[in-house]
Amino acid sequence: MLYLSTRGHADRKRFCDILLEGLAPDGGLYLPVEYPQIDDAKLSQLRETLANKGYAALAFEILSLYIDDIPAEDLRALCAKTYTREVFGSDAIVPVRQLDGVLHIEALSNGPTLAFKDMAMQLLGNLFEYELARRNEELNILGATSGDTGSAAEYAMRGKKGVRVFMTSPHGRMSPFQQAQMFSLQDENIHNIAIEGVFDDCQDIVKAVSNDHTFKARYKIGTVNSINWARLLAQVVYYFAGYLQATRSNDQKVSFTVPSGNFGNICAGHVARQMGLPIAKLVVATNENDVLDEFFRTGVYQVRGSANTYETSSPSMDISKASNFERFVFDLVGRDGVRTRQLFAEGVAKAGKFDLSTDPAFEDAAGKYGFVSGKSTHADRLATIKDTFERFDQMIDTHTADGVKVAREHLGAEPMLVLETALPIKFAATIEEALGRQPDRPAKFNGIEDLPKRVVVMPSDVDKVKAFIAANCR
Ligand SMILES: *Cc1c(COP(=O)(O)O)cnc(C)c1O
Repeated sequence: MLYLSTRGHADRKRFCDILLEGLAPDGGLYLPVEYPQIDDAKLSQLRETLANKGYAALAFEILSLYIDDIPAEDLRALCAKTYTREVFGSDAIVPVRQLDGVLHIEALSNGPTLAFKDMAMQLLGNLFEYELARRNEELNILGATSGDTGSAAEYAMRGKKGVRVFMTSPHGRMSPFQQAQMFSLQDENIHNIAIEGVFDDCQDIVKAVSNDHTFKARYKIGTVNSINWARLLAQVVYYFAGYLQATRSNDQKVSFTVPSGNFGNICAGHVARQMGLPIAKLVVATNENDVLDEFFRTGVYQVRGSANTYETSSPSMDISKASNFERFVFDLVGRDGVRTRQLFAEGVAKAGKFDLSTDPAFEDAAGKYGFVSGKSTHADRLATIKDTFERFDQMIDTHTADGVKVAREHLGAEPMLVLETALPIKFAATIEEALGRQPDRPAKFNGIEDLPKRVVVMPSDVDKVKAFIAANCR
């Protein structure tokens, strides 16, 4: 399988080359040149694989359709090492449970950091270690986090040979639980840098370091952000696992509702649907930061400045610009790289928007591609958490609550699977506001806030961060 850029660059690359890369040379995102098709016989085979051999074997079957530059037995071993009961808490890895009639929840957040990002990041950690060893190379991952991404990256990369992590976060702004999760890691290859500033300052530092090409090359700086194709691909697997758990035969369909921010998670659903998985609807759920809902309602994609990006109680969805959205738009406009470049490199980058409302392609978003959307606010979140707890005795986190709220607006006859993207303990303050009690805490996290912390606090200063990286790369 070869990969192309959404902006039309002529290069075609293989999986392991784009694994360690970020954007394509023309600023586009990588996608496979075509989506491998799953016919009825293959779907039946995958159904048996999941039932008899489990999630890791299913992951191997899906990944091997896209990865041909890792020997099959190695890829199989990487999947088996990643998706274990020990790491993800159950043999099902992503168990589906019923809430109410057709409404179900697919649990994606029982990994080490209790958010769905572990599903992809744990695999990425193993893939990185494997590929870096094969090339005899090292990588220093520099990132910015407001919580979930950074901790998922650190738990995936801790102790991995050839990899160091330098993770910046806004000093004092993450929840106490999130800070404890990250800062209690004592692994030598994990470095927490608390920046005296806000999340945007952290992101600016990462950009500034990445734009210093000499420094970047000398210190082998890389990233693990959500545009990485390997992360997206790992997520495709749980759409298959959700479908196979919720159906008994291949003539049935299901729909998915996905709490969305950067459009990475639901874009994996789009890929699964393009492969032929019988998905009726893909429902995009946003919070008050509703750029995606606006697009799917109107055809206008208008990004926001930081002044109009709200801090909400589902913070991992607080985005003003959805970094993976370009992948879907590329398919929507008939895989036209020139057009995609116009929309993003000119429309979004220069005017902050593009408008497809009068373009015939926009009708395909709902029609051909099955996308619909909805929005949820803080009040909706509280009401949904309370309702779900009172009627079904289930505690859901704030992001999942946005999903449940929006899913209820799009129910049909088919099973509706809401992706559970985090556990309530990560967002305890809002749970308390909704229920008047603390969320349950998995036993292994008892007392985590009291553990010794490994973190350096720094002013928002690019040179200081560079000096810290240099000093720790010996
Ligand atoms: C990252 C995250 C999201 C958003 O996922 P995207 O792939 O960016 O759309 C939703 N919920 C939680 C809990 C997250 O950590």
